[in-house]
Amino acid sequence: MDLRGRIADLMPQAREELAELVAIKSVADPRQFPPEECHRAARWVLDHFTALGFDDARLAETSDGSNAVVGSRQCARPDAPTVLLYAHYDVQPPLDDAAWQTPPFELVEKDGRWYGRGTADCKGNILMHLLALRALGDDVPVNLKLVVEGSEEQGTGGLEAFVVDNPDLLRADTILVCDTGNAAVGHPAATVSLRGMVNVVVTVEALTSEVHSGMFGGAAPDALAALIAMLAGLRDSAGNTTIEGLDNTRRWEGEPYPPEQFRGDAGLLDGVQLLGDGSVSDMLWARPSVTVLGIDCPPVVGSAAAIVPKAAARLNLRIPPGLAPDVAQKALEAHLHRTAPWGVHVTIEVEATGSPFRATIDGPAYRAMGAAMLEAYEKPMASLGQGGSIPLCNVFTDTYPDAEIILMGVEEPQALIHAPNESVDPREISAMALTEALFLQRYAAGTT
Ligand SMILES: [Zn+2]
Repeated sequence: MDLRGRIADLMPQAREELAELVAIKSVADPRQFPPEECHRAARWVLDHFTALGFDDARLAETSDGSNAVVGSRQCARPDAPTVLLYAHYDVQPPLDDAAWQTPPFELVEKDGRWYGRGTADCKGNILMHLLALRALGDDVPVNLKLVVEGSEEQGTGGLEAFVVDNPDLLRADTILVCDTGNAAVGHPAATVSLRGMVNVVVTVEALTSEVHSGMFGGAAPDALAALIAMLAGLRDSAGNTTIEGLDNTRRWEGEPYPPEQFRGDAGLLDGVQLLGDGSVSDMLWARPSVTVLGIDCPPVVGSAAAIVPKAAARLNLRIPPGLAPDVAQKALEAHLHRTAPWGVHVTIEVEATGSPFRATIDGPAYRAMGAAMLEAYEKPMASLGQGGSIPLCNVFTDTYPDAEIILMGVEEPQALIHAPNESVDPREISAMALTEALFLQRYAAGTT
């Protein structure tokens, strides 16, 4: 039987296993869920990969107290390349329980999709790895390494530190970071670009304390008004981010994001316009974009007829590949200082920065993946960008500068990862498992 037929035969077992895994409430936050849940998920992953020949698989505790499952499996060919398979077993919390139409920690089939927290992100990708390897059986022509981490969603950086501390353990020629997805169901894609970011808190001070707006308003400078003017200066009337020194004219060269699909995905209200002069994909993946995340000022209830002496805002600047975070940070700081009116005092605290990521797309692994997707889906592989960051990708790039990193998986847009009613399309699990199996064969053949 061919690979496609074998995977089809293995799907009922994969569904049962995904249901077991989804039933484990592996939210890596001990304030919300008992840590035993994450331990159970780690053991589950460990047992299932050990059974597939990862003889040295073990739990490795990381600096944030979570456990990564690590292991390896050698093939007979001594000169075979090494491929590292990545996924994570922790999940987002359910968030709004009332918004779920099915129980969050139960796999429920509805209209052909499998619902439940983690069905796509990222437990569906764990099943994808298992299916691909089971379909290949003993006939896996590359050396494999495995890392399935346990705290990806918390951003506590456990695996990032682990990679830096144990570079040889996970060293590979190609890394499959399986925590993204296709452009749509049935439309295969690799994610080739991730945005970086700069988070700052800007504080504006104008007076030693509050003063009566009737007695002093009109002449006394208003810190909140100054802050509002500075924030308004971060964009033009079309919504383009206009920070001096940051290029906001670049174009996205990969797959476009259809505007109508984006309107629906983002939940735009009737008559509300999309931002910017560029296409949706230009705005998301090729240009800087700033968002005001929060403002400290008196809330409406409880506010008085007083001039606000001090106000602060937290800003999130997303930056595309090609723009270094320190350059973006300096430009943002200079812009805020320059646009501050009336000589108000401005202080800026940098909370966090992260580098953007761009995959290399001219290597043998990327070519083999393109061929595998074409065979599995009978459609060419598209290149997608992603607006969010995956800091681990930068750690992989820095630690293994020669490795090819490919981002892929079963998390297409309908999966609603991180939101209530997360789901996966089982056809994506089987087709991506087939893709992965074909990739391993073709990559080995191409590097002989
Ligand atoms: Zn994920």
